[in-house]
Amino acid sequence: MSDSRAPRIVVLAGGVGGSNFALGVREALRRRGADAASHLTIIANTGDDLWLTGVRLQPDVDSLVYALAGVNDAQRGWGRAGESERVSAELTQWGASWPWFTLGDLDLGLHLARTGWLRDGATASEVIGRMAQRWPLGARILPMTDAEVDTIVTVREGTAERSMHFQEWWTRHRAALTPVRFDNPGVAAASPAPGVIESIADADLVLLAPSNPVVSIGPILAVPGIRDALRDTPASIVGTSPIIAGSVVRGMADVCLAAIGVDSSAAAVAAHYGARADGGLLDAWLIAEEDSVLSANIDASGIAAVVRPLWMRDLDTSAALAEDAMRAGEVHRPRRGQAAR
Ligand code: GDP
Ligand code: CA
Repeated sequence: MSDSRAPRIVVLAGGVGGSNFALGVREALRRRGADAASHLTIIANTGDDLWLTGVRLQPDVDSLVYALAGVNDAQRGWGRAGESERVSAELTQWGASWPWFTLGDLDLGLHLARTGWLRDGATASEVIGRMAQRWPLGARILPMTDAEVDTIVTVREGTAERSMHFQEWWTRHRAALTPVRFDNPGVAAASPAPGVIESIADADLVLLAPSNPVVSIGPILAVPGIRDALRDTPASIVGTSPIIAGSVVRGMADVCLAAIGVDSSAAAVAAHYGARADGGLLDAWLIAEEDSVLSANIDASGIAAVVRPLWMRDLDTSAALAEDAMRAGEVHRPRRGQAAR
Protein backbone atom coordinates (compact mmCIF):
# COMPACT_ATOMS: atom_id res chain seq x y z
CA MET A 1 0.00 0.00 0.00
CA SER A 2 1.45 3.34 -0.96
CA ASP A 3 -0.42 5.17 1.80
CA SER A 4 -0.98 3.29 5.04
CA ARG A 5 -4.53 4.59 5.42
CA ALA A 6 -5.61 4.36 1.81
CA PRO A 7 -6.16 1.11 -0.03
CA ARG A 8 -5.77 0.72 -3.77
CA ILE A 9 -9.35 0.19 -4.83
CA VAL A 10 -10.94 -1.35 -7.90
CA VAL A 11 -14.65 -0.67 -8.43
CA LEU A 12 -16.80 -2.67 -10.85
CA ALA A 13 -19.52 -0.34 -12.06
CA GLY A 14 -22.42 0.32 -14.40
CA GLY A 15 -23.80 3.76 -15.22
CA VAL A 16 -25.97 5.72 -12.84
CA GLY A 17 -25.72 3.62 -9.65
CA GLY A 18 -22.11 2.99 -10.55
CA SER A 19 -21.20 6.65 -10.89
CA ASN A 20 -22.89 7.73 -7.65
CA PHE A 21 -20.93 5.01 -5.91
CA ALA A 22 -17.68 5.92 -7.70
CA LEU A 23 -18.09 9.56 -6.63
CA GLY A 24 -18.46 8.30 -3.06
CA VAL A 25 -15.32 6.17 -3.24
CA ARG A 26 -13.29 9.03 -4.69
CA GLU A 27 -14.54 11.33 -1.93
CA ALA A 28 -13.90 8.75 0.82
CA LEU A 29 -10.31 8.33 -0.42
CA ARG A 30 -9.84 12.09 -0.42
CA ARG A 31 -11.21 12.32 3.11
CA ARG A 32 -8.54 9.80 4.14
CA GLY A 33 -5.99 12.18 2.66
CA ALA A 34 -5.21 9.96 -0.31
CA ASP A 35 -4.60 10.92 -3.91
CA ALA A 36 -7.68 9.28 -5.42
CA ALA A 37 -6.31 9.37 -8.97
CA SER A 38 -3.55 6.93 -8.03
CA HIS A 39 -5.69 4.77 -5.72
CA LEU A 40 -8.94 4.28 -7.63
CA THR A 41 -9.52 2.22 -10.77
CA ILE A 42 -13.04 1.85 -12.10
CA ILE A 43 -13.81 -1.04 -14.43
CA ALA A 44 -16.80 0.08 -16.45
CA ASN A 45 -19.48 -2.05 -18.04
CA THR A 46 -19.48 -1.67 -21.81
CA GLY A 47 -22.13 -4.33 -22.40
CA ASP A 48 -24.86 -1.82 -23.18
CA ASP A 49 -22.82 0.08 -25.78
CA LEU A 50 -24.36 0.53 -29.21
CA TRP A 51 -24.10 2.06 -32.65
CA LEU A 52 -26.83 4.59 -33.37
CA THR A 53 -27.04 6.89 -36.42
CA GLY A 54 -23.45 6.06 -37.24
CA VAL A 55 -21.94 6.93 -33.87
CA ARG A 56 -20.65 4.79 -31.04
CA LEU A 57 -22.40 5.22 -27.69
CA GLN A 58 -20.91 3.98 -24.42
CA PRO A 59 -23.64 4.89 -21.92
CA ASP A 60 -22.07 3.55 -18.73
CA VAL A 61 -18.58 4.86 -19.52
CA ASP A 62 -20.07 8.26 -20.33
CA SER A 63 -22.15 8.36 -17.14
CA LEU A 64 -19.00 7.63 -15.13
CA VAL A 65 -16.89 10.18 -17.03
CA TYR A 66 -19.52 12.93 -16.85
CA ALA A 67 -20.08 12.37 -13.12
CA LEU A 68 -16.39 12.26 -12.20
CA ALA A 69 -15.69 15.28 -14.42
CA GLY A 70 -18.57 17.16 -12.77
CA VAL A 71 -20.24 17.96 -16.11
CA ASN A 72 -23.23 15.65 -15.56
CA ASP A 73 -26.86 16.70 -15.16
CA ALA A 74 -27.27 15.79 -11.50
CA GLN A 75 -30.95 16.74 -11.43
CA ARG A 76 -32.00 14.60 -14.37
CA GLY A 77 -29.66 11.81 -13.33
CA TRP A 78 -28.06 11.23 -16.74
CA GLY A 79 -26.36 13.11 -19.57
CA ARG A 80 -24.64 16.50 -19.61
CA ALA A 81 -25.58 19.60 -17.66
CA GLY A 82 -26.85 22.50 -19.79
CA GLU A 83 -27.77 20.12 -22.60
CA SER A 84 -29.83 20.98 -25.70
CA GLU A 85 -31.42 18.62 -28.21
CA ARG A 86 -31.46 20.36 -31.56
CA VAL A 87 -29.50 17.70 -33.43
CA SER A 88 -31.63 14.92 -31.99
CA ALA A 89 -34.81 16.70 -33.15
CA GLU A 90 -33.33 17.03 -36.64
CA LEU A 91 -32.34 13.36 -36.72
CA THR A 92 -35.91 12.46 -35.81
CA GLN A 93 -37.16 14.60 -38.72
CA TRP A 94 -34.93 12.54 -40.98
CA GLY A 95 -36.22 9.33 -39.44
CA ALA A 96 -32.56 8.58 -38.82
CA SER A 97 -32.55 7.80 -35.11
CA TRP A 98 -34.62 6.18 -32.42
CA PRO A 99 -37.28 8.81 -31.58
CA TRP A 100 -37.52 7.45 -28.03
CA PHE A 101 -33.77 7.72 -27.45
CA THR A 102 -32.73 11.34 -27.05
CA LEU A 103 -29.15 12.25 -27.80
CA GLY A 104 -28.13 15.61 -26.42
CA ASP A 105 -26.05 17.95 -28.56
CA LEU A 106 -23.10 18.03 -26.13
CA ASP A 107 -23.38 14.29 -25.70
CA LEU A 108 -23.34 13.86 -29.49
CA GLY A 109 -20.15 15.93 -29.62
CA LEU A 110 -18.45 13.28 -27.52
CA HIS A 111 -19.95 10.43 -29.56
CA LEU A 112 -18.67 12.03 -32.78
CA ALA A 113 -15.20 12.53 -31.33
CA ARG A 114 -15.12 8.94 -30.06
CA THR A 115 -16.34 7.54 -33.37
CA GLY A 116 -13.69 9.48 -35.26
CA TRP A 117 -10.92 8.25 -32.97
CA LEU A 118 -12.17 4.66 -33.17
CA ARG A 119 -12.26 4.90 -36.96
CA ASP A 120 -8.66 6.17 -36.85
CA GLY A 121 -7.70 3.03 -34.98
CA ALA A 122 -7.83 4.07 -31.32
CA THR A 123 -9.09 1.53 -28.81
CA ALA A 124 -11.98 2.19 -26.43
CA SER A 125 -9.41 2.45 -23.61
CA GLU A 126 -7.45 5.08 -25.52
CA VAL A 127 -10.63 7.05 -26.16
CA ILE A 128 -11.32 7.16 -22.42
CA GLY A 129 -7.71 8.30 -21.94
CA ARG A 130 -8.38 11.25 -24.24
CA MET A 131 -11.53 12.13 -22.35
CA ALA A 132 -9.52 12.11 -19.11
CA GLN A 133 -7.00 14.51 -20.65
CA ARG A 134 -9.73 17.09 -21.12
CA TRP A 135 -11.39 16.40 -17.78
CA PRO A 136 -9.22 15.29 -14.86
CA LEU A 137 -11.33 12.53 -13.33
CA GLY A 138 -9.52 11.82 -10.07
CA ALA A 139 -9.73 8.13 -10.93
CA ARG A 140 -8.68 5.78 -13.71
CA ILE A 141 -11.56 4.43 -15.79
CA LEU A 142 -10.99 1.25 -17.77
CA PRO A 143 -13.58 -0.32 -20.05
CA MET A 144 -14.13 -4.00 -19.19
CA THR A 145 -12.90 -4.79 -22.71
CA ASP A 146 -11.86 -2.96 -25.86
CA ALA A 147 -13.94 -5.40 -27.89
CA GLU A 148 -17.48 -4.57 -29.00
CA VAL A 149 -19.90 -6.50 -26.84
CA ASP A 150 -23.67 -6.12 -27.03
CA THR A 151 -26.44 -6.97 -24.63
CA ILE A 152 -29.35 -8.59 -26.45
CA VAL A 153 -32.65 -9.18 -24.67
CA THR A 154 -34.93 -11.96 -25.82
CA VAL A 155 -38.60 -11.51 -24.96
CA ARG A 156 -41.53 -13.83 -25.41
CA GLU A 157 -44.48 -12.67 -27.52
CA GLY A 158 -47.22 -15.28 -27.32
CA THR A 159 -45.43 -18.44 -28.34
CA ALA A 160 -42.73 -16.66 -30.35
CA GLU A 161 -39.49 -15.13 -29.12
CA ARG A 162 -38.10 -11.80 -30.28
CA SER A 163 -34.66 -10.31 -29.66
CA MET A 164 -33.68 -6.66 -29.43
CA HIS A 165 -30.79 -4.51 -28.20
CA PHE A 166 -30.85 -3.91 -24.46
CA GLN A 167 -31.22 -0.14 -24.97
CA GLU A 168 -34.38 -0.61 -27.03
CA TRP A 169 -35.88 -2.91 -24.38
CA TRP A 170 -34.86 -0.61 -21.53
CA THR A 171 -35.58 2.81 -22.99
CA ARG A 172 -38.37 2.24 -25.50
CA HIS A 173 -40.24 -0.51 -23.69
CA ARG A 174 -39.22 0.53 -20.16
CA ALA A 175 -38.44 -3.14 -19.47
CA ALA A 176 -42.16 -3.89 -19.71
CA LEU A 177 -41.71 -6.85 -22.09
CA THR A 178 -40.93 -9.90 -19.99
CA PRO A 179 -37.39 -11.02 -20.79
CA VAL A 180 -36.60 -14.67 -21.34
CA ARG A 181 -32.83 -14.18 -21.30
CA PHE A 182 -29.95 -11.75 -21.75
CA ASP A 183 -27.06 -12.58 -24.07
CA ASN A 184 -23.74 -10.83 -24.65
CA PRO A 185 -22.73 -11.85 -28.18
CA GLY A 186 -19.02 -11.30 -28.63
CA VAL A 187 -18.16 -11.60 -24.95
CA ALA A 188 -16.75 -15.12 -25.13
CA ALA A 189 -14.12 -13.94 -27.62
CA ALA A 190 -13.42 -10.67 -25.79
CA SER A 191 -10.38 -10.11 -23.63
CA PRO A 192 -10.12 -7.73 -20.69
CA ALA A 193 -8.91 -4.24 -21.57
CA PRO A 194 -5.27 -3.43 -20.76
CA GLY A 195 -4.82 -2.94 -17.02
CA VAL A 196 -8.02 -4.70 -15.95
CA ILE A 197 -6.47 -7.96 -14.76
CA GLU A 198 -3.39 -6.21 -13.36
CA SER A 199 -5.44 -3.71 -11.35
CA ILE A 200 -7.52 -6.51 -9.82
CA ALA A 201 -4.38 -8.51 -8.95
CA ASP A 202 -2.69 -5.45 -7.39
CA ALA A 203 -5.72 -4.12 -5.51
CA ASP A 204 -6.10 -4.01 -1.74
CA LEU A 205 -9.85 -3.91 -2.11
CA VAL A 206 -12.37 -4.69 -4.84
CA LEU A 207 -15.81 -3.12 -4.56
CA LEU A 208 -18.89 -4.17 -6.50
CA ALA A 209 -20.97 -1.02 -6.94
CA PRO A 210 -24.71 -1.45 -6.27
CA SER A 211 -25.14 -1.59 -10.04
CA ASN A 212 -27.55 -3.83 -11.89
CA PRO A 213 -26.24 -7.36 -11.20
CA VAL A 214 -27.52 -8.72 -14.52
CA VAL A 215 -26.82 -6.06 -17.16
CA SER A 216 -24.08 -3.97 -15.51
CA ILE A 217 -21.96 -6.27 -13.32
CA GLY A 218 -22.95 -9.42 -15.25
CA PRO A 219 -21.27 -8.45 -18.55
CA ILE A 220 -18.06 -7.41 -16.72
CA LEU A 221 -17.91 -10.83 -15.03
CA ALA A 222 -18.59 -12.52 -18.38
CA VAL A 223 -15.38 -11.21 -19.98
CA PRO A 224 -13.07 -14.25 -19.93
CA GLY A 225 -10.40 -13.87 -17.26
CA ILE A 226 -12.09 -11.28 -15.06
CA ARG A 227 -13.95 -13.69 -12.79
CA ASP A 228 -10.79 -15.77 -12.33
CA ALA A 229 -8.76 -12.65 -11.52
CA LEU A 230 -11.35 -11.74 -8.87
CA ARG A 231 -11.27 -15.22 -7.34
CA ASP A 232 -7.46 -15.12 -7.23
CA THR A 233 -6.85 -11.60 -5.96
CA PRO A 234 -5.51 -11.26 -2.41
CA ALA A 235 -7.78 -8.18 -2.12
CA SER A 236 -11.00 -8.37 -0.14
CA ILE A 237 -14.11 -8.22 -2.29
CA VAL A 238 -17.01 -6.25 -0.87
CA GLY A 239 -20.33 -5.74 -2.61
CA THR A 240 -23.16 -3.30 -1.92
CA SER A 241 -26.73 -4.46 -2.38
CA PRO A 242 -28.71 -2.69 -5.10
CA ILE A 243 -31.83 -4.04 -3.39
CA ILE A 244 -33.19 -2.27 -0.33
CA ALA A 245 -36.20 -3.67 1.55
CA GLY A 246 -36.93 -6.13 -1.24
CA SER A 247 -37.05 -3.66 -4.09
CA VAL A 248 -34.67 -1.93 -6.47
CA VAL A 249 -33.83 1.59 -5.53
CA ARG A 250 -33.94 3.12 -8.98
CA GLY A 251 -34.43 1.47 -12.33
CA MET A 252 -35.80 -1.92 -13.29
CA ALA A 253 -33.18 -4.37 -12.08
CA ASP A 254 -35.90 -6.56 -10.55
CA VAL A 255 -37.15 -7.52 -14.02
CA CYS A 256 -33.59 -8.45 -15.02
CA LEU A 257 -33.07 -10.49 -11.86
CA ALA A 258 -36.36 -12.38 -12.38
CA ALA A 259 -35.20 -13.37 -15.88
CA ILE A 260 -32.17 -15.15 -14.44
CA GLY A 261 -34.17 -16.69 -11.59
CA VAL A 262 -32.89 -14.46 -8.78
CA ASP A 263 -35.34 -12.96 -6.28
CA SER A 264 -35.28 -9.22 -5.63
CA SER A 265 -33.77 -9.56 -2.19
CA ALA A 266 -30.41 -8.54 -0.79
CA ALA A 267 -29.78 -12.15 0.25
CA ALA A 268 -30.63 -13.61 -3.17
CA VAL A 269 -28.30 -11.19 -4.96
CA ALA A 270 -25.51 -12.05 -2.47
CA ALA A 271 -26.08 -15.75 -3.20
CA HIS A 272 -26.01 -14.96 -6.93
CA TYR A 273 -22.50 -13.47 -6.57
CA GLY A 274 -21.56 -16.29 -4.18
CA ALA A 275 -19.17 -16.67 -1.27
CA ARG A 276 -15.44 -16.63 -1.96
CA ALA A 277 -15.06 -19.83 0.04
CA ASP A 278 -17.37 -21.59 -2.42
CA GLY A 279 -15.67 -20.29 -5.56
CA GLY A 280 -17.87 -17.18 -5.66
CA LEU A 281 -16.81 -13.56 -5.32
CA LEU A 282 -17.84 -12.02 -2.04
CA ASP A 283 -16.04 -11.68 1.27
CA ALA A 284 -18.55 -9.16 2.59
CA TRP A 285 -21.92 -7.75 1.48
CA LEU A 286 -23.40 -4.46 2.60
CA ILE A 287 -27.13 -4.63 3.20
CA ALA A 288 -29.57 -1.95 4.32
CA GLU A 289 -30.89 -1.58 7.83
CA GLU A 290 -34.33 -2.47 6.43
CA ASP A 291 -32.89 -5.87 5.47
CA SER A 292 -31.04 -6.64 8.71
CA VAL A 293 -33.25 -9.71 9.26
CA LEU A 294 -31.36 -11.32 6.32
CA SER A 295 -27.95 -11.03 8.06
CA ALA A 296 -27.93 -14.47 9.66
CA ASN A 297 -28.73 -16.22 6.37
CA ILE A 298 -26.05 -14.30 4.47
CA ASP A 299 -23.47 -14.96 7.20
CA ALA A 300 -24.36 -18.66 7.14
CA SER A 301 -23.60 -18.75 3.42
CA GLY A 302 -20.00 -17.70 4.13
CA ILE A 303 -20.44 -14.03 3.21
CA ALA A 304 -20.11 -11.49 6.02
CA ALA A 305 -23.28 -9.38 6.08
CA VAL A 306 -22.65 -5.78 7.12
CA VAL A 307 -25.75 -3.70 7.92
CA ARG A 308 -25.33 -0.05 6.94
CA PRO A 309 -27.38 2.80 5.41
CA LEU A 310 -27.31 2.16 1.64
CA TRP A 311 -29.15 5.16 0.20
CA MET A 312 -26.90 7.42 -1.86
CA ARG A 313 -28.73 10.75 -1.64
CA ASP A 314 -25.77 13.10 -2.08
CA LEU A 315 -21.98 13.12 -1.95
CA ASP A 316 -21.92 12.76 1.85
CA THR A 317 -24.11 9.66 1.93
CA SER A 318 -22.24 8.14 -1.02
CA ALA A 319 -18.88 8.81 0.67
CA ALA A 320 -20.15 7.33 3.95
CA LEU A 321 -21.28 4.21 2.10
CA ALA A 322 -17.88 3.94 0.40
CA GLU A 323 -16.09 4.39 3.74
CA ASP A 324 -18.28 1.61 5.19
CA ALA A 325 -17.34 -0.65 2.27
CA MET A 326 -13.64 0.17 2.78
CA ARG A 327 -13.88 -0.71 6.48
CA ALA A 328 -15.74 -3.92 5.69
CA GLY A 329 -12.85 -4.85 3.39
CA GLU A 330 -10.35 -4.24 6.17
CA VAL A 331 -12.29 -6.38 8.66
CA HIS A 332 -13.41 -9.21 6.37
CA ARG A 333 -10.20 -10.32 4.68
CA PRO A 334 -10.29 -13.33 2.39
CA ARG A 335 -9.38 -16.23 4.65
CA ARG A 336 -6.03 -17.86 3.96
CA GLY A 337 -6.20 -20.51 1.32
CA GLN A 338 -9.49 -19.30 -0.06
CA ALA A 339 -8.25 -16.63 -2.43
CA ALA A 340 -6.18 -19.20 -4.33
CA ARG A 341 -8.23 -21.95 -5.90
P1 GDP B 1 -27.25 1.96 -15.14
O1 GDP B 1 -26.12 1.29 -15.87
O2 GDP B 1 -27.35 3.42 -15.45
O3 GDP B 1 -28.53 1.22 -15.23
O4 GDP B 1 -26.85 1.97 -13.62
P2 GDP B 1 -26.21 0.88 -12.68
O5 GDP B 1 -26.37 -0.51 -13.20
O6 GDP B 1 -24.83 1.33 -12.31
O7 GDP B 1 -27.06 1.06 -11.36
C1 GDP B 1 -28.43 0.75 -11.32
C2 GDP B 1 -28.72 0.13 -9.96
O8 GDP B 1 -28.26 0.98 -8.93
C3 GDP B 1 -30.21 -0.04 -9.74
O9 GDP B 1 -30.51 -1.39 -9.96
C4 GDP B 1 -30.43 0.36 -8.28
O10 GDP B 1 -30.95 -0.72 -7.54
C5 GDP B 1 -29.05 0.73 -7.77
N1 GDP B 1 -29.06 1.98 -7.02
C6 GDP B 1 -29.38 3.20 -7.50
N2 GDP B 1 -29.31 4.12 -6.50
C7 GDP B 1 -28.95 3.44 -5.37
C8 GDP B 1 -28.72 3.84 -4.00
O11 GDP B 1 -28.86 5.00 -3.62
N3 GDP B 1 -28.35 2.85 -3.13
C9 GDP B 1 -28.20 1.53 -3.52
N4 GDP B 1 -27.82 0.63 -2.60
N5 GDP B 1 -28.42 1.15 -4.79
C10 GDP B 1 -28.78 2.08 -5.71
CA1 CA C 1 -26.00 0.64 -18.06
